[in-house]
Amino acid sequence: MKELLLIPGPTPVNEEVLKEISKQPISHVSKDFAFYIEKSIEYLKEIFGTKKGSILIIPGSGTIAMEMAIKNLLNKNEKALVLSFGFFGDRFLEILEEDGFMFDFIKSEWGEVIDLNLITEKLKKEHFSVITITHVDTSTGILAPVEDYLKVIKEFSPDSLIILDGVCATGGVKEKMDEWGIDVILTGSQKALSVPPGLAILSVSEKAMEKRKHLGKIGFYYGDFLRWKETMDDPIKYFATHNTNYTFGLKKSLEIILSEGLENRFRRHYENANFIREKMDKIGFKVFGNKNYLSPTLSLFVYPEGVDDEEFRKKLHEKGITVASGIKNLKGKVFRMGHMGEVKKDELEYAYEKIIQVINR
Ligand SMILES: *Cc1c(COP(=O)(O)O)cnc(C)c1O
Repeated sequence: MKELLLIPGPTPVNEEVLKEISKQPISHVSKDFAFYIEKSIEYLKEIFGTKKGSILIIPGSGTIAMEMAIKNLLNKNEKALVLSFGFFGDRFLEILEEDGFMFDFIKSEWGEVIDLNLITEKLKKEHFSVITITHVDTSTGILAPVEDYLKVIKEFSPDSLIILDGVCATGGVKEKMDEWGIDVILTGSQKALSVPPGLAILSVSEKAMEKRKHLGKIGFYYGDFLRWKETMDDPIKYFATHNTNYTFGLKKSLEIILSEGLENRFRRHYENANFIREKMDKIGFKVFGNKNYLSPTLSLFVYPEGVDDEEFRKKLHEKGITVASGIKNLKGKVFRMGHMGEVKKDELEYAYEKIIQVINR
């Protein structure tokens, strides 16, 4: 039986990447290992759209990158603004609260995006040192119109530092760090980058790195941008042990991504998303969320009358296809299908056939 992991992360991993990961570890402070870091940095710069950004590859999951971004950029007497479209946008609020920072937020309804006018009004009234945006909120399947937001932000609050959470986006949709004027893009290895979970990855602008230098002690030894930058600039300098084997895998996966070509890859994601949505629509599964802002990396499908969530996902899993439940208010109402990274169109077709079998019984 063919098994397909169609959840919004972790995503299927190419055999060649798995082979790399399964090699014997090498010294994390050797020249040989430095090569893997250096190449990965070079490739990641292309994917993030940055020339001068500092790339940090950290053993950890996406969430540690979110907390690093906050703690390395904010003073306790400054305020952050969170633009939240769902569960992962709200996670920034939880981090800010937990770590004792001041913040405000604008939230959209789930499945919608934030009205540009609300952002303008907020920025006219008050200054925010840091603004966070979630590129794709994995709880709602919505892709934020980041470029539109940045135009407004650059006009009304040009010196705010911008953090973009790309965990469910980077490698699946376009991101242009330098051109758009973003200060930190962060992501995790297990979503559209098609590596197993285990690496948090950040790109940090020069302006953000300067800000970090001015903060002094940040109370986050492991997550300090400056400590990681030193070992990224020269991996032979030990700070904390690099995840050697996942870095082998990362380098290989980035090579696969770039040899496909970023434009081709983004187009494939878009086409595959449309493909599966049209098919699902015909059998009564409407896609959740505002049609103008659907993310190409995952879909939320609304259950038609009479289909039970638990039973549907269980039966589908028995046929080799794993999808994810809805989160919070959407639990029981939708299921989430990841179709990012390595997922191919014929695999989506295959999953669709299994879905038909499950609902016909
Ligand atoms: C998955 C995800 C996260 C959290 O990443 P972890 O690796 O689970 O810590 C954060 N933001 C978004 C948008 C995500 O999709």
